[in-house]
Amino acid sequence: MMHARFPMNRLALGVSLLLGVASAAVAGVTDQNLLDAGVKDNKSVLTWGIDYQGTRYSPLKQINADTIKDLVPAWTFSYGDEKQRGQEAQPLVYNGKIFVTASYSRIYAVDAKTGKKLWVYEHRLPDGILPCCDVINRGAALYGDLVIYSTLDAQLVALNQETGKVVWREKMDNYKDGYSNSAAPIVVKGLVITGVSGGEFGVVGRVDARDALTGKLVWTRPVIEGHMGYTFKDGQKTEAGLTGETGKTWPGDLWQTGGGATWLGGYYDPETDSVLIGTGNPAPWNAHTRPGDNLYSASSLAIDPSTGKIKWHYQTTPNDGWDFDGVNELVSFDLKKDGKTIKAVGKADRNGFFYVLDRTNGKLISATPFVTKQTWATGVDLKTGRPIETGVRPGDPSKSADGKKGETVFSAPSFLGGKNWMPMAYNKDTGLFYVPANEWGMDIWNEPITYKKGAAYLGAGFNIKPLYDDYIGALRAIDPATGKIVWEYKNYSPLWGGVLTTAGNLVFTGTPEGFLKAFDAKTGKELWSYQTGSGVVGCPVTWEMDGEQYIAVPSGWGGAVPLWGGEVAKRISYLTQGGSLWVFKLHKS
Ligand code: CA
Repeated sequence: MMHARFPMNRLALGVSLLLGVASAAVAGVTDQNLLDAGVKDNKSVLTWGIDYQGTRYSPLKQINADTIKDLVPAWTFSYGDEKQRGQEAQPLVYNGKIFVTASYSRIYAVDAKTGKKLWVYEHRLPDGILPCCDVINRGAALYGDLVIYSTLDAQLVALNQETGKVVWREKMDNYKDGYSNSAAPIVVKGLVITGVSGGEFGVVGRVDARDALTGKLVWTRPVIEGHMGYTFKDGQKTEAGLTGETGKTWPGDLWQTGGGATWLGGYYDPETDSVLIGTGNPAPWNAHTRPGDNLYSASSLAIDPSTGKIKWHYQTTPNDGWDFDGVNELVSFDLKKDGKTIKAVGKADRNGFFYVLDRTNGKLISATPFVTKQTWATGVDLKTGRPIETGVRPGDPSKSADGKKGETVFSAPSFLGGKNWMPMAYNKDTGLFYVPANEWGMDIWNEPITYKKGAAYLGAGFNIKPLYDDYIGALRAIDPATGKIVWEYKNYSPLWGGVLTTAGNLVFTGTPEGFLKAFDAKTGKELWSYQTGSGVVGCPVTWEMDGEQYIAVPSGWGGAVPLWGGEVAKRISYLTQGGSLWVFKLHKS
């Protein structure tokens, strides 16, 4: 044995020395850079959320409530060709380059100064991909000399930042089974952390961590109760414990196709060392098939980034029967209440409540409506943390006369949510969250459904309707200490873009009508707007370059609303598609 093992050990030692040298020599974006992103470093935009905690707040203030009248385009860049559709990305900025993902799983590197195209990578998508909600992508991650993003056929691709050449490419799952991905990954402690999309196809939601430099899987954590988590090391797959307890909150075998897609990805809170991530709807939509809470669907989770262990969970919509999902982003902030500072997290859920949780343990602090109408619940019980349901749910089809269609009910919010994917921002100067909300409801009914791999798994029909004639979208400033709405801006079309806030007392967001707009962060007064030529449903960012502050935002109308929006989609069918990146700075006179 000794003789056999000796050369093996020497070999292993040699390999680890080589790896040690290689990782020490990695240039480019480091773990420390990512910790500093948006906090100490404002010359780059290095991560989804702008900072790890996802506040989308910048301390930059050259562009402010006084100077913004002089904000003009520096340049614009067209993505080109006939591939347009929704442009929902958050650009990244590093080392003089802007990295922006675009519809149809494309990514561009553009010179940040001039708008010159440096390279484009167009991922080859197979026929038969199954994205639920347009061919969008929300952004990339940076680590070392790599830029990493996910694709609609459920792959993860890492490219060299300089050349755009593929360094590694890993299959996350099988697109034919309904898996896809459009979220921006994040990198924490050298691991690239992703979720999966496909809740409308009965996939099983999970969170994966891979070595960011090689793409190799390190751990995987399913978020539906009953499934086993795993860790991977040196080619060995090791069980890392069940998620929850099999059969506890799910009937029969339904947990095996239970949904809970983690389709928006997550943020990272360095103070509690947690990845904070939301999980989507339980599958199928017809809740009568799956009595029980259906953990951990429609929930918020805190996950240990090193092991994948779930530290705490909080479920916003038990036994979700409306596709309220629950993937909405969890933004860490310091809550000042009763003379104390609490490590809190804010979440504007699709179900219409704004939740504040203690992010050290997931305990509910408050839940207040941020939309005008909620038919499904009158509030949330602060003792139990559970919604106080009205009982207004779509009827059970198995109890209908012909067994084919349950009673139709009108529900608000609609399944497109009081707020959908578009990320809110938190401004530590004003202490306010800025939430892109929508006012709409839906007729919804349930139908019988059985699972078939790769087929839509809903058991529901619906028609989305506006609640008001004069507006659907409402950008709302919410005080997390009281739940009060301090100001609002109403928009005719639904809001579908991300929010940016700055120390310049500004809040930026886009509209489907094509405008990038800026508001006074304290009062909500509209201070500036610019027409970009197509709907703005991307995420604005800001950075400083050679002493000047810049703002960038993608333009290109699309996403879920035109595809699923029913009467709302008809009302705004005149909106046109596009595909471009706009960059602004102050005009020098
Ligand atoms: Ca869903």
